[in-house]
Amino acid sequence: MRRTVNADDGGRIVPSSPAFGAFAAHSAAGDERGCASVARVGVRRPRESPAAYAEGMAAPERTRVAVVGGGPAGMFLGLLLARGGIDTVVLEKHPDFLRDFRGDTVHASTLGLLDELGLGSAFAALPHRLVDSVEIQLDAGTVRLADFGRALPGLHPHVAFVPQWDFLEMLAGAAEREPHFTLVRSAEVVGLTHDAGRVAGVGLRDYAVGEPAVGEPAVVEPAVVEPAVGERSVAESTSSGHVLAADLVVACDGRWSTVREAAGLIPRTFGSPVDIWWFRVPRHEGDPGGGIGRLSGHEFMIMIDRGDTWQCGYLIAKGADAALRAEGLGAFREKLARLQPWLADRLDASPASLDDVKLLNIILERLEEWHRDGLLLIGDAAHPMSPVGGVGINLAIQDAVATAQIVGQWMRHHPGPVPADVLSEVRRRRLLPTVLVQAFQRAAARGIVSRALKGEIATSRTAIPLPLRVLARFPILQAIPARFIAIGPRPEHTPSWARRLERIAPR
Ligand SMILES: Cc1cc2nc3c(=O)[nH]c(=O)nc-3n(C[C@H](O)[C@H](O)[C@H](O)COP(=O)(O)OP(=O)(O)OC[C@H]3O[C@@H](n4cnc5c(N)ncnc54)[C@H](O)[C@@H]3O)c2cc1C
Repeated sequence: MRRTVNADDGGRIVPSSPAFGAFAAHSAAGDERGCASVARVGVRRPRESPAAYAEGMAAPERTRVAVVGGGPAGMFLGLLLARGGIDTVVLEKHPDFLRDFRGDTVHASTLGLLDELGLGSAFAALPHRLVDSVEIQLDAGTVRLADFGRALPGLHPHVAFVPQWDFLEMLAGAAEREPHFTLVRSAEVVGLTHDAGRVAGVGLRDYAVGEPAVGEPAVVEPAVVEPAVGERSVAESTSSGHVLAADLVVACDGRWSTVREAAGLIPRTFGSPVDIWWFRVPRHEGDPGGGIGRLSGHEFMIMIDRGDTWQCGYLIAKGADAALRAEGLGAFREKLARLQPWLADRLDASPASLDDVKLLNIILERLEEWHRDGLLLIGDAAHPMSPVGGVGINLAIQDAVATAQIVGQWMRHHPGPVPADVLSEVRRRRLLPTVLVQAFQRAAARGIVSRALKGEIATSRTAIPLPLRVLARFPILQAIPARFIAIGPRPEHTPSWARRLERIAPR
């Protein structure tokens, strides 16, 4: 079986270009570990059209596990299950992983998981930066919030910044070496199929060209109507009529999950006082590196170093988008230049217009139930995360590892559908970490971000908020947020059957 396929717009499935399969071919730099700030990151490769691929491959019609979504949760889960000998198909609606709306953090706990999987060297070969602390730049100076070196004495006393498309390609490359793994790109799931009331597979719309605007939800089809018990149904909206039958569907399709909607699951919402304007500006030689948080007056911006560009997130109060746009591009550029004066030399050209500034709607939500008969939801599909603290990717990967430990372990020894008590065990194990991390995000959004935008946090030395002052005064306490961010509560470990020893080349 060929293991990476692209669905073309005629409903056929065609093999992927070798460029997608072989991560090594496009990785740059080399091992950059040990330096706080290294390597050029973020080289965007040209998008390849699936139409360029050879034709003639049949779509899979049945698998044991259909994973919906090839983000961090989906790719990690697909790799682990396939290594456990469980036939797994990952369905990704885009033809590639190249999208701006991606967080770029790979946390210490994930770096440890990659070592367990024998992928430490493959990751090290990707262009990346290692960041050993989190700091916020105030007018009065820089305050260190988290010191990873102090908290994490092991092999990875840092958080890595790597373009997420490179990270996902690396996971795809590793998974494609497993005979039980198939990745179908350009395959959008539009609904669920049912058999006797149990979720029995997914309906697909093959999807070869076009993608939603950056940060916007995918085209969401109306939720599939629950069929009568005993009746096998197919999502009526599947234009190609393609259906993938599975013993288990795992929704890893992110915060606007189509599967969640199709299953009729409604998350509890916690609201967010802020949204984010997402845009890019060029990065110049001599700029600082890594991740930057900058707070001054009413303005708060995060900047992610992607090599030749800065990915910028400028926080705005929820609902303020229209009013701020009405002020115009000139006013926005002035604010940016005031906030980060060394950016001023490039703001004439970039962002070129307010059309290049995308509004990302920040949500923070959690499902009460994470499963239905034949269906499990993990990652942002179960608990959409806000960007605060940059911890959502780690949490999604930890969910995937717990799913492999619990559900994968069961499936290795039993044929057929997975019992409800096995599926519900995943939520039991991951609920506490999720609640704690979301509570941290809510507290930070209310206590710091929202107050900063209202100008309630003055940034002179004496008015620095008490928690930040305490962290600055007693550096030993920086180990607490460092551990929380870099490892997170209840870290998971990969199942022994998914691990591989890394082959180290002789010196
Ligand atoms: C503005 C912003 C910035 C953020 N920055 C960070 C950060 O720096 N660090 C961090 O840790 N977290 C960050 N987060 C949170 C983080 O993005 C998420 O928590 C994390 O990506 C969740 O991973 P996931 O695999 O569950 O879902 P996702 O990463 O959302 O992946 C879902 C995948 O499913 C695919 N998909 C969706 N629908 C379908 C469908 N119907 N059929 C097939 N495929 C489908 C999508 O194309 C996507 O590839 C940020 C969030 C926001 C809003």
